[in-house]
Amino acid sequence: MSNESDCIFCKIVAGDIPCFKLHEDEDSIAFMDINPVNPGHALIVHKAHHRDLFEIPADNIAAVTLTAQRISRAVQATLEPAGMNLLQCNGPAAKQSVMHFHMHVIPRHMADGLTMNWELVQGDMDEIGALAERIRSNM
Ligand code: 5GP
Ligand code: ZN
Repeated sequence: MSNESDCIFCKIVAGDIPCFKLHEDEDSIAFMDINPVNPGHALIVHKAHHRDLFEIPADNIAAVTLTAQRISRAVQATLEPAGMNLLQCNGPAAKQSVMHFHMHVIPRHMADGLTMNWELVQGDMDEIGALAERIRSNM
């Protein structure tokens, strides 16, 4: 699979940096976002490095989407939020910060104040790890 040496998500895929992993299969990997906008915020990436929606091949985006649905169901079963957004960002105005195609799974709550573009705020790693374990138990 293609891999970029300075890409943080390629490093996660390779196991070179740690993550709270929720799922891994031949094509995709899902893990907790360490700067969650809401508890349960997860990311799904294809193992191969593709920059964005415009570059990723159709079969790769299909694999990521199927995993995103699986993760969404587990997050829904775990946290029972009032809503769920799947988000995917491309380019600077859309605030893409990691140049490796990924989908966000974001649990939503009524009036949680979340807007489309948000500032990154690091979460509590113990809380994120505990939540990852609960979500995994619902997969
Ligand atoms: P983007 O803004 O590119 O759509 O989203 C990138 C996401 O990756 C952000 O929500 C950010 O918190 C997350 N992120 C950045 N670096 C890391 C990391 O090292 N580990 C994890 N788990 N998430 C990361
Ligand atoms: Zn990458």
